[in-house]
Amino acid sequence: MNDAELTGQARTHIAAVADPECLLHAQVVTPFLNLRRAALAEGIDLQAMSSFRDFGRQLTIWNGKFSGERPMFDASGSKLDAATLTPRERIDAILLWSALPGASRHHWGTDVDLVDRGSSEGGHQIKLTREEFAPGGPFARLDLWLDAHAPRFGFFRPFRGVRSGVQPEPWHCSFAPIAEKARQRLSPQVLRTAIAAAPLLGKDVVLEHLDELHARYVAAIDLP
Ligand SMILES: [Zn+2]
Repeated sequence: MNDAELTGQARTHIAAVADPECLLHAQVVTPFLNLRRAALAEGIDLQAMSSFRDFGRQLTIWNGKFSGERPMFDASGSKLDAATLTPRERIDAILLWSALPGASRHHWGTDVDLVDRGSSEGGHQIKLTREEFAPGGPFARLDLWLDAHAPRFGFFRPFRGVRSGVQPEPWHCSFAPIAEKARQRLSPQVLRTAIAAAPLLGKDVVLEHLDELHARYVAAIDLP
């Protein structure tokens, strides 16, 4: 991947998949369809709630939260009032739940947010919460299945809450062979160049702390 692809500013690395509908790195399509087929054989209907997401989309999410137009939450999920927070406090709160534009693993096309559509029928509104993946939740079986089988297909879950700076995201699955290369190539300098050129709210503070933010939210993941 080149710098524009790494930071979600190009989609030249992305292919559209019709079933299940998603956008993936061209070299992740076959591994993902293999994972899906194996899951389906055990009655798990893997669907991607989110796959490739570009820089512009991540920027809209970021600016919406920073400005207070979109809700912002603390680590326990309570709503925060952006107006009462300093820029640095807003940045830390946003990063608990959302990536910095340019630093989302969804830019790479290697990462998908997975659910089991078969277990979400019957009126369950999918919210992507830890409770849904915990014992007794609609995706508890998916959680166990991914633990047991995803590595065989090259997939792992980078946000288990062990090392990563973000809140645990058991639904977030990543294709290690390509994602690990992308993570190593996405240096603080590559990220800095992308952010410096963007209309990002809080940009000065982000750039001032970029090395620290990169270390916490890009480099520190739960490794494959
Ligand atoms: Zn995700």
